[in-house]
Amino acid sequence: MRLFEPTALQIKTKILSKEVRASEFIDQLFGRIKNVEPSIQAYITINEEEAFKKAIEIDKKIENAEKVGLLAGIPVAVKDNICTRNLYTTCASEILKKFIPPYDAFVVNRLKKEDAIIIGKTNLDEFAMGSSTENSRYKVTRNPWNLEYVPGGSSGGSAAAVAADLSLIALGSETGGSVRQPAALCGVVGVKPTYGRVSRYGLVAFGSSLDQVGTVTKDVGDAALILQVIAGYDLHDSTSANVPVPDYLNGIDSGINGLRIGIPKEYFAAGLNADVLKALKDALKVYEHLGAKIIDISLPHTEYAVAVYYIVANAEASSNLARYDGVRYGYRASRSNGIIDMYCRTRSEGFGNEVKRRIMLGNYALSSGYYDAYYLKASKVRNLIKQDFDVAFEKVDCIICPTSPAPAFKIGERANNPLEMYLSDIYTIPANLAGIPGISIPCGFSKEVLPIGMQILAKHFEEKKLLQIAYAFEQETDFHLKKPVLKVSSV
Ligand code: GLN
Repeated sequence: MRLFEPTALQIKTKILSKEVRASEFIDQLFGRIKNVEPSIQAYITINEEEAFKKAIEIDKKIENAEKVGLLAGIPVAVKDNICTRNLYTTCASEILKKFIPPYDAFVVNRLKKEDAIIIGKTNLDEFAMGSSTENSRYKVTRNPWNLEYVPGGSSGGSAAAVAADLSLIALGSETGGSVRQPAALCGVVGVKPTYGRVSRYGLVAFGSSLDQVGTVTKDVGDAALILQVIAGYDLHDSTSANVPVPDYLNGIDSGINGLRIGIPKEYFAAGLNADVLKALKDALKVYEHLGAKIIDISLPHTEYAVAVYYIVANAEASSNLARYDGVRYGYRASRSNGIIDMYCRTRSEGFGNEVKRRIMLGNYALSSGYYDAYYLKASKVRNLIKQDFDVAFEKVDCIICPTSPAPAFKIGERANNPLEMYLSDIYTIPANLAGIPGISIPCGFSKEVLPIGMQILAKHFEEKKLLQIAYAFEQETDFHLKKPVLKVSSV
């Protein structure tokens, strides 16, 4: 049996019932990684030795009938901008190439407490800046559905790893869609929790008023399982919310009869790919059939979202990235003429082009005389975008729209056109600006057999409702069960 194919909940049952040993499972998974990873390039670091140690530990606990955690024996891949103690955390940047954190991020700590197995660190756009994973300084991750296409980004390694059965679950991070968009492009499930739902402690900062840890899974049940583990209050993050965490799995199958679904007209406008539009229309029919009511709504400030995001996120990034100066940690230029020259050389050599572009844009927006015109104005428009959602949620229970305007694009196709790349974030960015939760689930395929994602958005802290709505669709369809055919020698 190919043990790496089922979901985490299915494998968990097998491990707990002693049908499969955690170590046997991990052994198969690493066999799979050896065969498939060379053509996907999802990982920056593989944690094989530690993973085996942990698996054997779990086997022993189960043999001795000791209590085990919620994720006993479940492999989780972690995006390489989330700190892992004694394990490289590079942010796919030269500047953090040899950085080994002395502590675990809150979410990693939670994974370990619940007996998950951290199998490796996944590739990303440098410092999570990008939508294709092409901005990694180390490697280009491939889309498992077609190796010539990007997996999306910036959590492209996490999405590709789950889609190619190189992990059961992965953690990613979101600033403007970096979990939902790659999940959509790779045909897996991506969740961006409410801002404050999951602690950011140990997540390397990009845009602090937007950043949030998210999850990538094979289906909605697994999304509920992993969110249960990582959600909750943390004293170490001042933006963490002290709001009780419900039981996400319990009642996930309650159905959606009577649900009011809002369809924002601005998200179905010109520029939307025809295959994506068709998949969304078909998906809405499934919901109507299940008893939902479709209601047309408007989110009138949507057209400003991309501009607002690229001012706010870059301004915050320019300040957050000031700490990489060659003094405190990370890379330092080998030769320099005094301290200022050392800063300049270190940052010029350590950061890639996209990161430098963002730092320059951010510094410009924050500079004296421009702050009011850019950052302050953007913050005000951000509030209007949030109000659009508040008004909409008075009439509807959730909003459904595409996750991305088009399926995956070819590697290199947009690399020289940053504006085109930025514009493709149009459907994911508003949720980050408003701080609301969102989920992307598979809802179809393009003519080229590339996955299409549907996005569901809800009010702050309504992740449980989102999971129920997504689960209802998943039960009626089989898009989440489809697997890419990988032309590699497979175990
Ligand atoms: N693609 C967006 C950007 O480049 C979002 C990135 C993210 O969510 N980390 O900034």
